[in-house]
Amino acid sequence: MSDKKELKLRSLLIHGGIERDEATGAVNIPIYQTSTYKQDGLGQDRGWEYSRTGNPTRAAVEKLIADLEQGAFGLAFASGLAAISTVLSLFQSGDKLVVSDNIYGGTFRILDNVFKHFGITYKIVDTSDLAKVEAAIDEDVKAVYIESPANPLLTVTDIAAVSEVAHKKGKLVIVDNTFLTPYLQRPLTLGADIVIHSGTKYLGGHSDTISGFVVVNDEKLAERLYYLQNAIGGVLAPWDSFLMIRGIKTLGVRMDRHVENAQKIAKWLLESGYVSRVYYPGLESDPGYVVQKKQADGPGAMISFVLKEGYDYKAFFKNLKLITLAESLGGVESLVCHPASMTHAAIPADIRKQVGIVDELIRFSVGIEDVTDLIADLEQAIENAKIG
Ligand SMILES: *Cc1c(COP(=O)(O)O)cnc(C)c1O
Repeated sequence: MSDKKELKLRSLLIHGGIERDEATGAVNIPIYQTSTYKQDGLGQDRGWEYSRTGNPTRAAVEKLIADLEQGAFGLAFASGLAAISTVLSLFQSGDKLVVSDNIYGGTFRILDNVFKHFGITYKIVDTSDLAKVEAAIDEDVKAVYIESPANPLLTVTDIAAVSEVAHKKGKLVIVDNTFLTPYLQRPLTLGADIVIHSGTKYLGGHSDTISGFVVVNDEKLAERLYYLQNAIGGVLAPWDSFLMIRGIKTLGVRMDRHVENAQKIAKWLLESGYVSRVYYPGLESDPGYVVQKKQADGPGAMISFVLKEGYDYKAFFKNLKLITLAESLGGVESLVCHPASMTHAAIPADIRKQVGIVDELIRFSVGIEDVTDLIADLEQAIENAKIG
């Protein structure tokens, strides 16, 4: 269908990418569970050779994520980190990256303990401060790598402004868009060069599949990334590609409910008298509110908060009945985590403190349950965590 680009995002979620199986008319793309393909003669394949290089089910989800991000080229990986490591493999020894000061712990880990060994280094910068980004970009810097809102403090970076500053100096802008998804934010349209996703989170949406994506517009960049995807080999399996397509179909309705619940819970937390700090860019009082409103269609559903003195955060985690203590986020079910010991444990304690990831910080991935049940669970868990 050539007129797909005219469809609204909510329709693209269902009709984007490759819509149905050419051979049979099946309304869902079949799971092409095959590693290889018959060649009709030497050098005569039918467009498919080997499933690391290309697989029809994976190709369908790759086209779909590209359509959703309004990009030209999509790539699917076995995890968000497989996507990230492939993107980082664009760089060479001596290259430097400017990186947001609060990012996913695993991204920090692979920079600090894998790519650093290959001579690719990083500078941690508060990317919500444009002057600091500009000052950090020297000749050796090849790219600015941001998350917005960032994990776990939901710091908002102005993607268009950073792109302008970086492009003026000829640098790439990479945005991890996991927290908002293309349903709420499309970084390529704001000037970013590379969008990364952990599809494990909202895109899949059911906490049942690990996956990652990369989307770009530039053909040369895409060519190099496809080369690296095949060379490194961290590709998404056919079955998991199918699950991602299935998950993405309901992204819109899920996200609408996620955000609605998160707005109510953030407001409740703020007014509850239980917390000393709430981080949520959907609150007018949040420092990221204005920029997030300008560049995204919603603030997402991740909230971080710190309980007031007099409440034991460890007891709070223990007291929860409906909300589950677990790593990860973005599933239909509500999850909480303790960034300092879980998702962000890979970041050294001094850097954690410096950026504000205190031991008392609680990160909440607001699910799509009935919000009154969620608030009741929070309330009883906090009440019963009172010290003394
Ligand atoms: C989870 C996550 C990742 C890593 O993705 P995996 O699928 O777990 O490999 C990267 N970035 C963000 C923001 C994440 O939340």
